Amino acid sequence: MSAGLVVVPAAAEFLTVAEAAAVARCHTVTMRRRVESGEVHATQRVKGGRWTIARVCLEEQLLSGACSHQRPRRSGNVVDLAARRRAGGGR
Ligand SMILES: [Zn+2]
Repeated sequence: MSAGLVVVPAAAEFLTVAEAAAVARCHTVTMRRRVESGEVHATQRVKGGRWTIARVCLEEQLLSGACSHQRPRRSGNVVDLAARRRAGGGR
């Protein structure tokens, strides 16, 4: 294992934060911050869990500052409680 070097498979459609950082040539911590702030479009299955970043989203973000289907959100990508309520919480 070579320390600090992240090899991103050319065919990878979805990237981890570390892989996205390698593609964007920034630090993993920087990428995580950009993801958590919503600057980079990413999804997270569980709050506090692993982020998944679509390669197309990252590439568009790097080129134009935002991917085409990204909507500004108040709390970045962090769990959309309103959507969860709409989906049938409300008990
Ligand atoms: Zn996107």
